[in-house]
Amino acid sequence: MVRQEFVVLRYGHRLVRDYRVTSHCCLVARAFGASKIIVAGDKDEGLQKSVMDVAKRWGGKFEVCFTESWRKTLAQFKKKGFFVVHLTMYGLQLQKEIKKLRKKKKVLVIVGSQKVESLVYEQSDANIAVTGQPHSEIAALAVALDWLQKGKELGKQFKGARIRIRPVERGKRVIKAGGQKSN
Ligand code: SAM
Repeated sequence: MVRQEFVVLRYGHRLVRDYRVTSHCCLVARAFGASKIIVAGDKDEGLQKSVMDVAKRWGGKFEVCFTESWRKTLAQFKKKGFFVVHLTMYGLQLQKEIKKLRKKKKVLVIVGSQKVESLVYEQSDANIAVTGQPHSEIAALAVALDWLQKGKELGKQFKGARIRIRPVERGKRVIKAGGQKSN
C-alpha cells in the first residue's frame, strides 16, 4: 500500500455559525490521519486554539490554518503534487473510484459548507460522492479518509500524547502521561 499524506481544505467558514461543524471537520481530519486542515473562510482564532489544545493533549502532528483564497491554496497544492479530491454528492461513486485514489501519494480533500462554486468542481482532479444522498461534510470526510486508508487509521498511535484511552469493555479508562490512570 502507498504511504499517503492527506490535507483537508474546508471550503467556507462563517464565524459563530459554522464553529461547531468546522471544528468537527478539524477533529475528524486529525483523528482520521490528515496532517493539516486549511480553512477557507473567516479567520477564527478560537477554533484554531480549541482544536490545537486537543492536538497537544492527544498527541501527533496536526495543523489548523486559514486561507483567504481557496483558489491560491488549491493551485499551490497542485504544484506540490497533491491530487485534489472534492467531496460532493454529485460526484462519481467513492466505491468505484477508490482503487485509483489509493494510488495517489498526496491527497488534498475538499469539503464544502455553504454552496460550493462551480470552479471547485472544475479545478478538482476528482469529484467524489459518499453516497448520492445529501448529508454532512463531517460524515463525508470521515468515510472518505477511512476508505482511502482501508480503515488502517483506526489503530493509529498519536506520538507524544499526554492522554490516551485504554479500551475497555465497559466504563472509561484514561491514561495520562507518566502512567497515571483515572476512571
Ligand atoms: N448546500 C450545499 C451545496 O449545495 O453545495 C452543500 C451542503 S453540504 C451539508 C456540505 C458539504 O458536505 C458538501 O459541500 C460536501 O463536501 C459534503 N457532502 C454532503 N453530502 C455529501 C455526499 N453525499 N458525498 C460527498 N460529500 C458530501
